[in-house]
Amino acid sequence: MKRYSVFAVAREALRHHSGWQRAWASPEPKQRYDVIIIGAGGHGLATAYHLGKNHGITNVAVLEKGWLGGGNTGRNTTIIRSNYLQDPSAAIYEKSRSLYETMSQDLNYNVMFSPRGVMMLAQTEAEVRGYERTAHANALQGVQTEFIPPKRVKELVPIINIDGPRYPVLGALWQARGGTARHDAVAWGYARACSDMGMHIIQKCEVTGVRTAGGKVSGVDTSRGPIDCDKLGIVVAGHSGVVAQMAGFRLPVESVALQALVSEPIKPCMDVVVMANTVHGYMSQSDKGEMVIGGGADGYNNYTQRGSFHHIEETVRALVETFPMVSRLKMLRQWGGIVDMTGDRSPILSKTPLEGCFINCGWGTGGFKAIPGSGWAMAELMARGSSPLTDAFGLNRFREGQFIDESVAAGVAH
Ligand SMILES: Cc1cc2nc3c(=O)[nH]c(=O)nc-3n(C[C@H](O)[C@H](O)[C@H](O)COP(=O)(O)OP(=O)(O)OC[C@H]3O[C@@H](n4cnc5c(N)ncnc54)[C@H](O)[C@@H]3O)c2cc1C
Repeated sequence: MKRYSVFAVAREALRHHSGWQRAWASPEPKQRYDVIIIGAGGHGLATAYHLGKNHGITNVAVLEKGWLGGGNTGRNTTIIRSNYLQDPSAAIYEKSRSLYETMSQDLNYNVMFSPRGVMMLAQTEAEVRGYERTAHANALQGVQTEFIPPKRVKELVPIINIDGPRYPVLGALWQARGGTARHDAVAWGYARACSDMGMHIIQKCEVTGVRTAGGKVSGVDTSRGPIDCDKLGIVVAGHSGVVAQMAGFRLPVESVALQALVSEPIKPCMDVVVMANTVHGYMSQSDKGEMVIGGGADGYNNYTQRGSFHHIEETVRALVETFPMVSRLKMLRQWGGIVDMTGDRSPILSKTPLEGCFINCGWGTGGFKAIPGSGWAMAELMARGSSPLTDAFGLNRFREGQFIDESVAAGVAH
């Protein structure tokens, strides 16, 4: 695969862009692979990438029922941060955030990582106490965050109203190296790197069954025929329960739609990401100028991968006191994705009751930020049978009551 560089761009500009290679191949499925990953979202592709890069396993297929990155990876609002409360969470999210810092160079693909800073507003006394506690925990974990006063919030976000009558801004948890990245590019960059290592990314290939032999996984049935494998990774986010059922076990997850919307593009007015969890709303400005806005998940379980009018009203109503300018914004489009929520709002990276079958799910409303760290850890788990980053996130924790409670850090937003 030819490397992307400033020289390549200049060369192609001179020859009418006729020399670009396809970024990834579209091969026919082989009869057998060492490893099959179900789901070509960010987590599935990052797992495949790290299987090859860190463990030398390249006889890998990533099977995708739609198009790569077409699930939540291409639908999220791209917030990246690692200021979680519990130690196992801080470890995997901070690993992930640090991998984002060098991802464009590692993949030779510009993922537009923008460490512009992420702020979580404290708008009640309870939230002040919660975020101060998180800032102390982060200091012990080596994650750089700080609790900042309202005056500093106003300096960083001049358009904010900190004196709201219902929910004044009392401070914020601030992570200066948090930010955003271009979500499609993350999927495309991993896909290109995987394809370059000889892996097969097979789109429009839905897994319809999991095959077993002697109590072990032996392959999958797909819309393009049966395919054999030694190890299977299920990485399908909102469809985890459906695919787990094919493999013969149940998961403690609920699937629910999470929605977002963007405004028309406007002049640059906010260069940090702001989350307001008390009122259920968050906002950032894209490079194109659109205000990217999200809110809470739907209040009922569903598989509805689209937006709805009640969500626009609820989210804009929530934000308008803190951001009065929202009342004058025209909204451009809205959409939804199906997220997989666990009871403790922490992910599952685990072996399963079926030998040779592994699962990576439960990232809920906040898994985009975790893609590189999750791929790193899941690849280690699949290749070696355990990983220090996944030990605490096994399925056993639900049986043993060893929950990793992140409902404050992850319960609402991203
Ligand atoms: C509106 C919205 C906003 C969000 N905002 C943020 C945010 O700001 N920050 C953040 O960190 N996270 C955010 N998230 C969460 C984040 O998007 C997800 O946690 C993350 O993208 C999950 O990635 P994934 O690779 O596990 O899943 P996906 O990207 O959904 O990939 C799973 C893939 O599996 C495929 N699949 C399913 N069933 C099958 C089958 N039977 N056969 C083959 N393929 C199958 C699907 O088609 C899909 O492409 C948001 C999510 C949404 C919906």
